[in-house]
Amino acid sequence: MTRIFNFSAGPSMLPVPVLERAAAEMLDYEGSGMSVMEMSHRSKVYDKIIKDTEAKLREVMGIPENYKVLFLQGGATLQFAMVPMNLLVKSGKADYVVSGSFSGKAYKEAQKYGKISLAGTSKADNFNHIPKQEELTLDPEADYVHICHNNTIYGTTFKYIPETGNVPLVSDMSSCILSEPVDVSKFGLIYAGAQKNMGPAGLTVVIIREDLVGEPQPLTPVMMNYQEMVANDSMYNTPPTYAIYILGLVLDWVKDMGGLEGLKANNEKKANLLYDYLDSSKIFKTTVLKEDRSMMNVTFRTETPELDDAFVKEATAKGFSNLKGHRAVGGMRASIYNAMPVEGVQALVDFMKEFEAKHS
Ligand code: PMP
Repeated sequence: MTRIFNFSAGPSMLPVPVLERAAAEMLDYEGSGMSVMEMSHRSKVYDKIIKDTEAKLREVMGIPENYKVLFLQGGATLQFAMVPMNLLVKSGKADYVVSGSFSGKAYKEAQKYGKISLAGTSKADNFNHIPKQEELTLDPEADYVHICHNNTIYGTTFKYIPETGNVPLVSDMSSCILSEPVDVSKFGLIYAGAQKNMGPAGLTVVIIREDLVGEPQPLTPVMMNYQEMVANDSMYNTPPTYAIYILGLVLDWVKDMGGLEGLKANNEKKANLLYDYLDSSKIFKTTVLKEDRSMMNVTFRTETPELDDAFVKEATAKGFSNLKGHRAVGGMRASIYNAMPVEGVQALVDFMKEFEAKHS
């Protein structure tokens, strides 16, 4: 068996102990005589899995009592519509900060459901930084403010939590959830597709403050209605059972790693290794402003697209996969989520040094 260092932006690496446990429990989950994939979502044994997974997520993230946790489908992208359909019900207005590709998509989608304003953007600078608090134009009457916490494609991240007064803050945390502690009470709603730090694709986690769960816009499909999903404990229909089970295993691993504090220390170590080298390199450079650099997605490039291509090709041959940057940015991107070990980043830096010696 050969496992390679997989720098994919998502779906991405999962911790080996999680995969091993899933394999060991595959044919007979805890004496049930079947795999988790094969069991009814209404069975006693599965009921324990989903309840335990929620309890572990609450414990690991310190989710306050007055927040509901939902296990949904449709990816983070469905939340681009679900959030406005459910929350644009008072003034019908919302403010969006567009700091990258996904927040741009969320901004565009929301326009179908109400009066959406651009609260701030870094588009003119090709999203190489995060707009600052003082650059945001916020409407105190808005039903919510939407941000994307970590920009997976551009490699920037919010290092501050925008102050929005009494207006609920909604955050897409798809590519940074579980990477470090977060004060959930500062948010009205947090959502994230699972396929980076939480588990396999197919599961979307929504954490919503109780008072925001209410009657949605009239045409909202039942599957997109938070109130229905809360009332049915995420089981209005069949939930993504196996992905939820894997999230439970991932959360056990998170606890073994020292919780979110432990993972933060590990993630900082990895990000510093890579950024310190990039800052000293003569041929590689980062593409974003230093103060807004992401710990999860590190974007960089050489002086020419030809050298970028040569680097990606050689790296792939050496077992460093998925380093090609997103087509919107070009260059390279190393996604170093929770499951990427420090050794993986060290090995990449060593290889980059060798490449630099050969090409400068
Ligand atoms: N938001 C962010 C920050 C993402 O990184 C992604 C996917 N890479 C999405 C939204 C879209 O997620 P999904 O594919 O789960 O719809």
